[in-house]
Amino acid sequence: MIGDRWTVLIIRDAFLGRTTFGEFRDHTGAPRSTLVNRLDKLVFNGILYKNPYNYTPLRFEYRLTDKGRALYPWALLIWDWDRKWADTAEDQLPQRIYHKGCDSWMRPVAACAHCKEPLALRDIGHSVNHDYTAPTANTRSKRLTRARSNRGGAPADKSLWHVTDVIADRWTPQILAACFFGIGRYDDFRRKLGIATNILSDRLKQLVETGILVRNSYQESPPRYRYELTEKGEALYPITLALQQWVLEWIPQANTLPIHLKHTPCGKTLTTAVVCNVCSEPLKAHEVRFVFRDDKSRDNIK
Ligand SMILES: [Zn+2]
Ligand SMILES: [Zn+2]
Repeated sequence: MIGDRWTVLIIRDAFLGRTTFGEFRDHTGAPRSTLVNRLDKLVFNGILYKNPYNYTPLRFEYRLTDKGRALYPWALLIWDWDRKWADTAEDQLPQRIYHKGCDSWMRPVAACAHCKEPLALRDIGHSVNHDYTAPTANTRSKRLTRARSNRGGAPADKSLWHVTDVIADRWTPQILAACFFGIGRYDDFRRKLGIATNILSDRLKQLVETGILVRNSYQESPPRYRYELTEKGEALYPITLALQQWVLEWIPQANTLPIHLKHTPCGKTLTTAVVCNVCSEPLKAHEVRFVFRDDKSRDNIK
């Protein structure tokens, strides 16, 4: 549903209060036909709904449904990752987040909903769910659509371009998920994920180029390599967990996942909550305020 760069950028804009076709077109920089297609899919999948705001002529705006708004914790983590790891010189992303709940500047953190501890990769245990049957894999090759400018008009909003280059693709999140479970050898990726070799090679190369994975030699003859997550790559883990939590809560047909996850320190089945790093309370949209770099009101925000 959201494994596509334009879709992620539309959701970004919806959370920033953009609602009309023209606003989405200007800010995402998506070609018109692509934007029509992605908005239709988001409506079809129940993430956006069309709301008439003018009757003669008939005009619609696009607003987030409850299911769409439930992506908020995931969107906060994407914002946080992009702000830390992308070159944000040109972007229009809000620079800071203020939490009204505890009256503090804050960062969103993925935490265990049971014991409230921040989630670390080493603390998540997993076991295979033997009742799970995988959906049929679509092996059509498609290169990642790289960030690009729209032709003419205002320059597109470049915020989140880096993170969408990495995660907004059908296969890349699956490769990353395999890495999170300790898979690192080419043959193991191929066997476990059922990816066509050309796609797998292409995505691994891109993940190395973007600094998400490093390729380490573990055998000289014949040469063999292992792909390992960098710090930047490991920092994508909370985003994956937040998205998985959304899938469990909002996609009824996905209520079984191939793997059971457990938070080892407290022993409970993993439920991910995105919380404030200062007060550890779950973040709700109406209690969070984004502050832009040039926002003059930021010093008297209270
Ligand atoms: Zn826990
Ligand atoms: Zn707080």
